[in-house]
Amino acid sequence: MAMDKWAAWVGGAPYTGAGEYFTVDEPATGHVLAEVSKLGPEDVDRAVRTARTQFESGVWQNQSATQRGKVLLRMAQLIRDEVETLSQLEARQVGKPIRDARDEVLTAADCFEFYAGAANKLHGDTIPVSQPGLDYTIRVPVGVVGLIVPWNFPFLITAWKVAPALAVGNSVVVKPASYAPLTALKLGPIAQAAGVPDGVLNIVTGPGGQTGEALASHHDVDKIAFTGETTTGSRILALAAARVARVSLELGGKSPTIVFPDVDVDMVARLAVASAYANGGQDCCARSRLLVHRDIAEAFTERFQGYVRQLKIGDPLDPTVDMGPLVSLAHRDRVRRYVESGVQEGARLVLAPEAYSVPTHGFYQAPAVFSEVSESMTIVQEEIFGPVSTIQVFDTEEEAIAKANATPYGLSGSVFSRDIGRALRVAHRVKSGVLSVNSIKSVHLEAPFGGFKMSGIGRELGLEALELYTEVKNIFVALD
Ligand code: NAD
Repeated sequence: MAMDKWAAWVGGAPYTGAGEYFTVDEPATGHVLAEVSKLGPEDVDRAVRTARTQFESGVWQNQSATQRGKVLLRMAQLIRDEVETLSQLEARQVGKPIRDARDEVLTAADCFEFYAGAANKLHGDTIPVSQPGLDYTIRVPVGVVGLIVPWNFPFLITAWKVAPALAVGNSVVVKPASYAPLTALKLGPIAQAAGVPDGVLNIVTGPGGQTGEALASHHDVDKIAFTGETTTGSRILALAAARVARVSLELGGKSPTIVFPDVDVDMVARLAVASAYANGGQDCCARSRLLVHRDIAEAFTERFQGYVRQLKIGDPLDPTVDMGPLVSLAHRDRVRRYVESGVQEGARLVLAPEAYSVPTHGFYQAPAVFSEVSESMTIVQEEIFGPVSTIQVFDTEEEAIAKANATPYGLSGSVFSRDIGRALRVAHRVKSGVLSVNSIKSVHLEAPFGGFKMSGIGRELGLEALELYTEVKNIFVALD
């Protein structure tokens, strides 16, 4: 693959701004993979003005919802046509195993298909008001929407936002993460080829603190949909507050897997490893906190760490690899500091990263498993976003729920038990936006996804996402 220069995408064409670039490293090698346009506030302003002009022209929002759906369907097909190029690029830019990258790209195509079909299913209500007349609601696009995306599922989360925002007629400015902008940039030409009018989808690249801030604080952006760290989300809320811009936030997590003693311990241990270590633990839904009933704690810990040991770590382009490198050197060092803090705070390192041999080049970090942890420890409270998990023991249902809820986050979680009454009692009381019973699957394109507490505001995916990108307008017609 040529290590060429990549431009941003504004007004339906490559855009290089003042001609400055930043580099994107390849985590598996530590070498530069690409140089990408570094846009400043004036470039972001240009992208927003382009989006505004196209929004007000009606060139997209005034097309019928059915027609917009057909365009999105073509985008899905074009993504499928490019699945190999996109997956390779995704695997290389973030160090994601190639088979996971392929799944991600195909799910992004599914996402465009879902919103292609959903575009003409959004409708209003008629309301029996007291005055004589007809009262009804319609949903109108919010306008110009800034979509700010993280690096852990770069292409998929771009799709989660772009597909519903376009389905209902908005114009968008996408800001991909600076570690991983390459696959999102491919969406510009794909949208154009599918028939999205130029200037309706724009992609601005650069550092979060510069390019992202310029977008989040731009006076003419009506809404920001953000996915990323909780601290960044809080900053974005503050930036949007002055102009009362709409904000939806998908933020961090510290999700639990709760295991009762009546389960197949071996099967649950295997699933729990997948949910904690997939994507190297760089997953907002990673169930990095294992809460295990005392009666099976020893057996579970043994099986769990045994399956973690079996994870194959190596070159993300090798189709048999389970875990690649972490996204960056800085992030790897941050994860290492968390492992050290766990040891210093007195947790027992059941499985130490040193048990593995991992490639010495690139940003590899081997997994760690801690037991004998307490709620107050940093490794139990903070989102590590790496291959580190903690095992806590509980005795009663009440204690399991209390422990599950004892962090500032509330995104996801799993409960395992054959006693369905107990599983559902617990599921209803864990304070999280999504929860799986006897499963580790927490994201479904057709169902709402998002967090309680410091894990966010609003729900993406499902038909809920269409509401996220529209305003409700109430109309009253006097009949006398
Ligand atoms: P991040 O907050 O560092 O960056 C996210 C995006 O925001 C990037 O595009 C970045 O360039 C931009 N950004 C950074 N600072 C900004 C600022 N001041 N103003 C505007 N934009 C700014 O997050 P990340 O490290 O890319 O992603 C990891 C985080 O994302 C984790 O906390 C993870 O839990 C969270 N996440 C949440 C979900 C979810 O759906 N809840 C999904 C995936 C990831």
